[in-house]
Amino acid sequence: MTAKIIDGKQIAKDLLENIRLEIIERTNQGQRNPCLAVILVGDDPASEVYVRNKKIACEKVGIKSLSYDVESNISQAELLAIVNKLNVDKDVDGILVQSPLPDHINEEEIIHAIHPNKDVDGFHPMNIGLLALRQPRLRSCTPYGVIKMLKATGIELKGLDATIVGVSNNVGRPMALELLLEACTITSCHSKTKDLEQKVRQADLVVVAAGRQNLVKGEWIKKGAIVIDIGINRIDGKLVGDVEFDSASKNAGYITPVPGGVGPMTVATLMENTLLAQKLS
Ligand code: NAP
Repeated sequence: MTAKIIDGKQIAKDLLENIRLEIIERTNQGQRNPCLAVILVGDDPASEVYVRNKKIACEKVGIKSLSYDVESNISQAELLAIVNKLNVDKDVDGILVQSPLPDHINEEEIIHAIHPNKDVDGFHPMNIGLLALRQPRLRSCTPYGVIKMLKATGIELKGLDATIVGVSNNVGRPMALELLLEACTITSCHSKTKDLEQKVRQADLVVVAAGRQNLVKGEWIKKGAIVIDIGINRIDGKLVGDVEFDSASKNAGYITPVPGGVGPMTVATLMENTLLAQKLS
């Protein structure tokens, strides 16, 4: 078997086009364009690329983006002051603080300070809690992007045995909640999991978000399984995922490439969240 490649780039493009059309419709009815404030702390090159891509997507769909590029030595209080100012600004719908933040910044406190209805990354405890209670509002962009991608591919999720590798607050945990919402039976794995191979081998759907190149071996993939590789590893200037792509493609029914898989979906769902945040305001 050779797996079908899930083209995240194309699916994201279609999603962005729908968002663009909806924004035109809303502005024709007198609404202003949605507005996303992006806070970038310091000059981490990878973060700069991510932020640039998000701003390009904003331009494509008609979302106004505001840039807050601040020095890496900004204090916790100064960063909180920016967030608080944006929280009460009626012209700002979404607030995004690009991670990672410098070590001296308490990231948790910053995320918790963002108003839940402006939390377009979907990281605030209120939004994660709502997802856990099956009342999703602003959903974590990457896991939500994975769900949208699977649905756009026409994959029936109900009842699938899903193994998720990675349990981080921003990716692995909300991914598990999203798949539970879709009535999958979930197994969440982390660095202390016993026999990861066996957990992957029994899965109909494998979602990997560990940030470890080649962690999941191609031979572990069950015949016909769906493989979603969220991992991004920079190896000699090249981006690779967490799954052995070539060998996994021989067993899987569907597989996502890196790059061009989950990454573009994350940006597209951020745009969707910004539009939703405007509706919530
Ligand atoms: P993270 O916070 O470092 O979490 C990694 C998770 O993987 C942790 O739960 C960790 O377990 C688990 N893990 C690490 N080594 C493992 C092993 N050998 N076996 C099993 N589990 C293992 O990273 P993250 O923020 O979730 O991101 C994960 C990856 O996704 C990164 O490569 C990141 O760049 C990528 N990412 C991609 C997108 C996208 O749009 N494509 C978006 C966000 C993130 P413990 O909890 O036990 O430590």
